[in-house]
Amino acid sequence: MAYLPEAAPDAPPAKRGSKAQARHAASVDASEGWPPLAQCVRENMRAFPGCMLLTRVGGFYESYFDQAPTLASKISIKLAARRWNNQTVPMAGFPIHQLEKYLKVLVQDHGMLVAICEEFQQPSAADNSNVAFDRRVTRVVSPGTLIDERFLDPFTHNYILAISRSAGSYGLAWLDVSTADFATVNCQDDKSLRDEVARVRPREVVIQEGSFDIVDGERHIVWDTIENCGAVVSRVSGGDDTLLQGSPNASRVERDAISMLTAYLRTRLMEHMPDMRVDARPADSHVMRLDAHTLGALEVRETMRERSARGSLTSTIRRTVTHGGARLLQEWLTQPSMSVSLIRARHAIVELFLSQQHLRHDLRVILRHGAGDVLRTMQRIALRRGDIQDMLEIRDFAGTVDRVMALLRQDMKSGPGWDELADLTDKFQSISGLCERLSEAIDERVIEKRLQRQEALLQSADDALAGGALVGSEETPRKRVPKKGPASLVIEEPLWGDDIEHLIRPSAASTLKTSTNEHTKLRREARQLENALRSSIGDAVTLRFLLGQGHVVHVPSTHKELPESFLEHATLSYKTKTTRTFYLAEWTRIGQRMQKLEASIAKKEGEYLRLLRDQVIAHAPVIRRNARLLEQLDVLLGFAQAAEELRLVRPVVDESACLEIRGGRHLGVELGLLEQHRMFTKNDVKFSEPERMHLVTGPNMGGKSTFLRQTAIIAILAQAGSFVPADAAHIGLVDRVFSRVGAKDDLFHSRSTFMVEMMETSEILRRATSRSLVIADEIGRGTNTSVGLSIAYATLHTLACKNKCRTLFATHYHELADMLGYSSDNTALDGAVAFYCTTLETLPGGHVHYAHQVRPGVNRESHGLQVAQLADMPPETVALAEHTHKWLLRHESARLSQVPFISHTEYQ
Ligand code: ADP
Repeated sequence: MAYLPEAAPDAPPAKRGSKAQARHAASVDASEGWPPLAQCVRENMRAFPGCMLLTRVGGFYESYFDQAPTLASKISIKLAARRWNNQTVPMAGFPIHQLEKYLKVLVQDHGMLVAICEEFQQPSAADNSNVAFDRRVTRVVSPGTLIDERFLDPFTHNYILAISRSAGSYGLAWLDVSTADFATVNCQDDKSLRDEVARVRPREVVIQEGSFDIVDGERHIVWDTIENCGAVVSRVSGGDDTLLQGSPNASRVERDAISMLTAYLRTRLMEHMPDMRVDARPADSHVMRLDAHTLGALEVRETMRERSARGSLTSTIRRTVTHGGARLLQEWLTQPSMSVSLIRARHAIVELFLSQQHLRHDLRVILRHGAGDVLRTMQRIALRRGDIQDMLEIRDFAGTVDRVMALLRQDMKSGPGWDELADLTDKFQSISGLCERLSEAIDERVIEKRLQRQEALLQSADDALAGGALVGSEETPRKRVPKKGPASLVIEEPLWGDDIEHLIRPSAASTLKTSTNEHTKLRREARQLENALRSSIGDAVTLRFLLGQGHVVHVPSTHKELPESFLEHATLSYKTKTTRTFYLAEWTRIGQRMQKLEASIAKKEGEYLRLLRDQVIAHAPVIRRNARLLEQLDVLLGFAQAAEELRLVRPVVDESACLEIRGGRHLGVELGLLEQHRMFTKNDVKFSEPERMHLVTGPNMGGKSTFLRQTAIIAILAQAGSFVPADAAHIGLVDRVFSRVGAKDDLFHSRSTFMVEMMETSEILRRATSRSLVIADEIGRGTNTSVGLSIAYATLHTLACKNKCRTLFATHYHELADMLGYSSDNTALDGAVAFYCTTLETLPGGHVHYAHQVRPGVNRESHGLQVAQLADMPPETVALAEHTHKWLLRHESARLSQVPFISHTEYQ
């Protein structure tokens, strides 16, 4: 049954999420017999199709009609019902402080869009007696428009990416709403579009309404691209150029993407759109390209099998101490530099930090404790979601920048490493003026006190829920004021006991000072009045403010007889067995005056806070620049730390075609082996003109794939600016790493493993340049032997003679060596190809073990039978395999159909 009736035919279309809309909803409502809340919900459900609508009702977010069962099942809460307009309407809801927890489930885990409808008390109804509300959707939360939700992964960017197209090229614009990291790029073809999207790894992709539709039954490549990156797809119509600012040389198609992205953000962030324009970072086009497959195969961001960050290259090498640093590290590892001077500068700084242990230690301590996640903090402020604590974070950050600068200045020398470090740190700009202003203005102790109180309140709300929740109950309407008696609402602290709590120190704002002085005077008067009452009535008498009563004199029943002089001026307000409360004109006057002053102080504090916020926003460009510099410092300090802990060495990087690694290791495999108390065998690799291809043969599990991957990873680390896991390394710049390892079926697109393998191989052959590094494992495995061998040979030949790239080619087909013309000097094709192998050694006693050492030569043994034995295959099966193999060797031309039948009895 559908619970959502059609809109009244004469209802004018309401503006999305506007006040007008909510009010309109309330007015048509009466004629239809639905209460205002129900009408508002129905309107919003229509205005925000495809979104789960959460409507704030008092202390709860609630969902009604058709959406309630979905909400209840997705977040596992009780489904309830209520009567509206003589119908039973399903409903489900949860307390407001659980919003984040459930947004995570809905948005992050299920990729849903959630429209949040807030309620705003109408000014006329401020007295709580006849409560009336404006309700409007203030934001639609989608996976790519998270702002500051606690479930945001601090170690990676949360990008939303817009893709536009014009005449065969694509414009990409992507933004992390939580940090304002924004960049654009122009992709000239489908392949580079796919690689760029894989590198950005957006959570949400925005495309123009109606674009990239299926034409002639063919899906557009964009769909494959989006599917592969796992993002949610959203559509937008129109454009908007008011927020994001592309670089001056951005292309037309990039600008289209930017304006689409802004238009889309407006439909999602709504009242939370940032307060300032965001500029694109200058795109660095001089970077090593890593395609989607390579990023996955080398486990740069996450492991292949579990798809978890743990065990990935990023997490193995990461020693950063700030969130921003962790995000930048991932960026550097996914697009290593191609600039020799930049790479060398990074290496020089890492070397310096490696040798200057104390400096490294001190800087990391300062960053860990003072840098915060300032880009996210700045965004909260810009999106008007920031609070006073965010101001304090900005203050701490500003202080951190000063401390870092002071420490470096005090130690700074000139010489290798120092000069490069100075180039970086000279760009810091002190914002100590802002830091001082914030320190002087904000009283941190008050914030702490308030936080503690807030936590206690939340705790008690949780406790209350645990002991009988209101969620999903049918009570209507929900009471905003608890029904308990007035005596239970005593605010225990006497209002004049302590100094008034100022978030903003009165010394910072003159207007506050006057009000505070007056408040202090009144407090003194109140204390005098209370003392006078105590001396005439008794010590337990107090002046209080009680909800429901107001300003009263609180008298415990121990004081039975009250003096006439008091009763003459006092009026009884409330009486219980244990207490009586009285109104006393004098206290009412003082109390009300104090209350007014407090309200005015709070207002002035709010105004002052807005002023501070504007000042912080005015400093945003400097704060952001400093933040990015600190991130760089953090990554470089982390590289030095990793170099020390993981025994990494400084590589030589130049523009040669050389690639030489002595004693190379694969960090991930090495750490895995260490946990099992096993040793990793180091290996060497050396390409130098004319030798640019190694054919690596050897048994399964012999370490070929590890050897290939470690070589590529070392090149990536070196060009990212890190030291590398080797005894020595010399890397001639690599413009792209291609890998064809670990192909999987792509059943979704009906592509077999072999098809995927061929597609990847053809891409390498078409795109690899003489600067590229190719690692290829088992090309030609997925088809019959002669075809597979032929494809492998042709691929090798093309790579060695046409692409002329550096290639590590691992294979089972030792025949390839002969086909290439393997000669006694271990080379072929005029020295372009050299041959290496891993082996399986037989130990005394018949045991076999893998020697993971890569040696010159060709391994003509497949060792398949020994591997089967090692894998604990039943002995009779291994014996049968051995028998068959011998027969096949005797009849070289034999076809499988001619394999003799070996009867079970004969076999036994
Ligand atoms: P292949 O590609 O030849 O089948 P892999 O590279 O997948 O072999 O390696 C298989 C296993 O051998 C790894 O998981 C690891 O445990 C071990 N291994 C690989 N290389 C080494 C090495 N250099 N030193 C020690 N163990 C290694």
